[in-house]
Amino acid sequence: MLRSHTCGDLNISDKNSSVVLSGWVQKIRDKGFMIWVDLRDRYGVTQLIFDSERTPKNVFEAAKTLGREFVIQVHGTVIERESKNKHIPTGDIEVLVETLQVLNASKTPPFTIENNTDGGEDIRMKYRYLDIRRNPVKESLLFRHRVSMEVRNYLSTSGFIEVETPCLIKSTPEGARDFVVPSRMNSGEFYALPQSPQTFKQLLMVGGMDKYFQIVKCFRDEDLRADRQPEFTQIDCELTFVEQDDILNTFESLTKHLLKTLKGVDVAAFPRMTYNDAMRRYGNDKPDIRFGMEFGELNTLAKGKGFQVFDKQELVVGIAVPGAATFTRKEIDKLIDWVKRPQIGANGLVWVKYNEDGSYKSSVDKFYSQEDLSKWADTCNAQAGDLLLVMAGDTSATRSQLSALRMEMGERLGLRKPDEFAPLWIVDFPLLEWDAETERFHAMHHPFTAPKPDQVSLLETKPEKVYANAYDLVLNGNEIGGGSIRIHDQKLQQRMFDLLGFTKEEAKAQFGFLMDAFQYGAPPHGGIALGFDRLVAILDGKETIRDYIAFPKNNSGRDVMIDAPAPIDTNQLEELALTINKY
Ligand code: ASP
Repeated sequence: MLRSHTCGDLNISDKNSSVVLSGWVQKIRDKGFMIWVDLRDRYGVTQLIFDSERTPKNVFEAAKTLGREFVIQVHGTVIERESKNKHIPTGDIEVLVETLQVLNASKTPPFTIENNTDGGEDIRMKYRYLDIRRNPVKESLLFRHRVSMEVRNYLSTSGFIEVETPCLIKSTPEGARDFVVPSRMNSGEFYALPQSPQTFKQLLMVGGMDKYFQIVKCFRDEDLRADRQPEFTQIDCELTFVEQDDILNTFESLTKHLLKTLKGVDVAAFPRMTYNDAMRRYGNDKPDIRFGMEFGELNTLAKGKGFQVFDKQELVVGIAVPGAATFTRKEIDKLIDWVKRPQIGANGLVWVKYNEDGSYKSSVDKFYSQEDLSKWADTCNAQAGDLLLVMAGDTSATRSQLSALRMEMGERLGLRKPDEFAPLWIVDFPLLEWDAETERFHAMHHPFTAPKPDQVSLLETKPEKVYANAYDLVLNGNEIGGGSIRIHDQKLQQRMFDLLGFTKEEAKAQFGFLMDAFQYGAPPHGGIALGFDRLVAILDGKETIRDYIAFPKNNSGRDVMIDAPAPIDTNQLEELALTINKY
C-alpha cells in the first residue's frame, strides 16, 4: 500500500491512527533535534515530524538527506500538534514518522513551488509539470474540470448527446487559416484540422441526432493576438427544429446554471441588444456592461460652431468618466498621449470638466458656451464631477477608439469587478461584410448562417442590408459564444456561396457534401459554440486563458516544454513527398 490517506485527509478525529502517506516534500524545517517536513499532494499538505527521541535513529538520519520535491512515503502515527495551523484542514495534527522511504529524489526545482513563485512565465512554461504542482495552477485545472462536468451534466440532462467529430478533415473557409496535415497514403494531398466542427454538426442534424454537443478542440492558424491559443476548446452545440429564441433561452439557462452552481451568483434575464445598438452605445459588439459610460453622439450639438476639427468629421462622440473632473492637466495630457499611441490611433481628445459647482471648463472653451457644454453633458449622461472625453473622426474607427478608452477608464476606476457578472446577447448581426481589399463580401459569422427569413429577397437587391439570424453571448466585455440559425435549403446555400464570390465549381468542390445532404430532407436547425477556455477563466474572475490550459502555447505559438513546432527528418519528408524550401 503506497498510501492509506491523501495529504488532505487527516484531522484530529484520526488521532493515534497508524497511517501511510505519500507525496512531495514541500518544505523542510530542521531544528537539529526535530525535523518538520510539509508533505504535499493534490489534496493538501500534512506536516510530518521526525523527532530524535521518538523516531528510529536511521529514519531520523535519512530525513536529514531529504530535499525539496523529493517523493517520499512514510508510515507513522497521527498526533495532535502543539502549535496548530488554523489555515489548513490538516492543521490540528501532524504525523510522527516511524519509517521513511524515498520513492524518488529530485533536483532542486528551477523556481519555487509556492503560490507566489520566483519563476517567470518562460521558465514556468518550460517546466510546466512543476508549475502544475503550484496551488494556483492546480486550482485552475480543478476549476476547469468542475465547469466541464457541470456543462456535460446540464446538457445531457437537457437531452443533448455528445458526439465526436473527426479531427482530420478538409480545409474549409471559416475566417482563419487552417492547420494542414499531409497525407502519406494520398501523396500530395492534405487534411486540415477543424477550425470548428461546423459542417459535421449540421450533418448530424440532417442525420436526425436532434440535440448535439461536444467539448471539442478547435484549431486556427491565426497571427497570435494576446491571449489567443492556436488550439482551444469549444462547447459546440447544434439543435434541430429551433428558432433563434429557443437557442438563446437554452444557453441563457446553461450560463445561469453555471453562474449559480459555480459562483453562487443569480443573474436576471440577459439583456438582448442589437448589433447596431451595441456599436452606437458602446462602440463595440462585445460591450462590458458592468459599468455605464455609454456613448453620447454629439454631431448635432458640436458641429457648425466654428470648431473646424469637428465640422468635417463623420462622428463626434463622447463619454462621461465618473468623478474624473478632478483630473489634473497632466493626467489629461497623459490620457491624450494614451489614445494617440499607434495601438489606439486616435488624433486627439477634447475634454470637458463638469465641475461640482455646475460650471464647465474645457479644451474648446473658445468655441462652445457653457450652455453648449451643458447639452453635451446631458447627452453623455454626465453628473457634476464627471469628465467628458470626446473624439471625432470616421464612424467605425472613432467608435473603436472611444471604446478602447472607455474600457481603459473602466479598468482604471476599478469598475470591471471580477466577481460581478454581466452577460448579454448581441443579436441581429449583418449577414455580410464588404471587404474593400478583396472587393468581396465576407460572411460576418460564417457562410452557413441564415438571413432573417423576411429578408431573403433583399439578398438580390441590397445584400449589404440583410441581417442574419446570428447572435453572440457576451460576458464582462468578452465574446464567450456565437452561433446562428443555419441555411437548410440547398438553393439558398448555393446563392450564399455565389454572393461570397465562390464559383459553382468551387462551391461544389468544397461543400458539395453539404449541399448534397440538404437535398435529403435537411431539417431547420441552428446552434452555438462557447469558447470553453475563456468561459472558465471569466467564471473564475480572470481573463488569461493560458492559466486554465494544462499545456498552453506561448505568444509565438510554441510549446516551449516539448519544443514544438520542430523540423521533421528527411525520411519523414520523403515519405510524405514533401520538400522544404528554405529562403
Ligand atoms: N462554428 C461557429 C464558431 O466556431 C459557431 C457556430 O456557429 O455554432 O464560431
